[in-house]
Amino acid sequence: MKVLLLGGTGEARALAARLHPEVEVISSLAGRVPDPALPVGPVRIGGFGGVDGMRQWLVDEHVDAVVDATHPFAATITAHAAQVCAQLEVPHLVLARPAWGPGSAIVVGSDTEAADTVANNGYSRVFLTTGRSGTGAFKGVDAWFLIRAVTPPDADTLPADHELLLSRGPYDYEGELALLREHRIEALVTKNSGGAMTEPKLRAAAAAGVPVVMVDRPPLPPGVHTVTTVEEAAAWVRAKIAG
Ligand code: NAP
Repeated sequence: MKVLLLGGTGEARALAARLHPEVEVISSLAGRVPDPALPVGPVRIGGFGGVDGMRQWLVDEHVDAVVDATHPFAATITAHAAQVCAQLEVPHLVLARPAWGPGSAIVVGSDTEAADTVANNGYSRVFLTTGRSGTGAFKGVDAWFLIRAVTPPDADTLPADHELLLSRGPYDYEGELALLREHRIEALVTKNSGGAMTEPKLRAAAAAGVPVVMVDRPPLPPGVHTVTTVEEAAAWVRAKIAG
């Protein structure tokens, strides 16, 4: 039984650790970050070359099942995997961590809508945590941004007035609260990533009375089989082996 595990998340690393070495799991990373946290077991790095490339790769490698444990906002690779697995009739599972409850957040559908919300509300000091690919939408917004990302955004996507904070979670409540206060933040912009690693910023914002603008998740492809925990995903793989 050979499983392709599409990763780049803590859940994917945890699943690889649960299954390896009992199951032959090849983890796949996009190769976006120069020093990725690596899962145990074999790893391949880099894109497949679209739908056709992924289909060929699954055939060449004789992959028996695919588990997509990519980030909830990695919609392209998730769509590709769903399409290719349906075509090849390869068992396919999406491991999607539960979304955060929106609480009192202003929920928006895209980075562009989030930028409009910041501008329309006149927030002038903004904590922007939507990642390196999310900064471009805010370029024309007249505000100061504290931008937190794992790797630096491209210079031409950065708003004029900003401070860049390069770091990788997990974060804790006290640290997040201190950051909001130190920088006199007036609004927090976040994706609805879900998960415990970056959730403390939401509690800190609530405690500090800082409004939250939350970008909603892209929808999953229709009809995909989905679980929300590493345990369930491991059980699904084991059931495939047994069956
Ligand atoms: P994306 O927009 O869905 O994918 C863009 C392209 O990157 C895909 O078409 C594919 O290239 C390649 N790719 C993405 N994930 C891959 C993987 N696990 N293995 C091999 N190729 C992959 O993805 P993204 O949002 O840029 O995210 C890239 C990676 O970062 C994912 O592994 C994801 O789990 C992780 N990540 C993303 C976020 C986020 O906010 N988006 C946050 C944390 C971690 P080809 O078409 O050439 O196959």
